[in-house]
Amino acid sequence: MEEKELQAKIESTIKLLKDKGRDIHTYHLTTFSHDSQKARASIAMLSLSQSDRFITAFKKSSLFFALAIGSVFLPVLHFVLVPTFLIVTVIVFMKGMKQTSWVVTGYTQCPQCKKWVEISPQYYTEPLRTSCSQCGERLLLKKQ
Ligand SMILES: [Zn+2]
Repeated sequence: MEEKELQAKIESTIKLLKDKGRDIHTYHLTTFSHDSQKARASIAMLSLSQSDRFITAFKKSSLFFALAIGSVFLPVLHFVLVPTFLIVTVIVFMKGMKQTSWVVTGYTQCPQCKKWVEISPQYYTEPLRTSCSQCGERLLLKKQ
């Protein structure tokens, strides 16, 4: 996709979520390639409320809880699998509750091949990581 299309997409996403009364803003980041070449990036980031955090963390951790329940029926292996999956359930839930921002969408230019890259939805972490779909370059995005 071209820059204009990606820009239009990010703007329509922001408008849609703002109309729903959500706390969403655009942030400008700097993209770095492995050899420290720079490019600019824009992301639409949603501030997660306490209930957003709970719902997302609950969804992510429930998979591991289901695996723990399923493991009850496996002879011998259940001694290891059930406690392991229960511990993972708690860790995933706790980690999810600590996340405060969610990247809804975004785009950047690859400093290597100059292609425009769309950023997929994910929790915001510093630095944000993505890769170029054209040349496979690993990209780090930082607030700067
Ligand atoms: Zn590239």
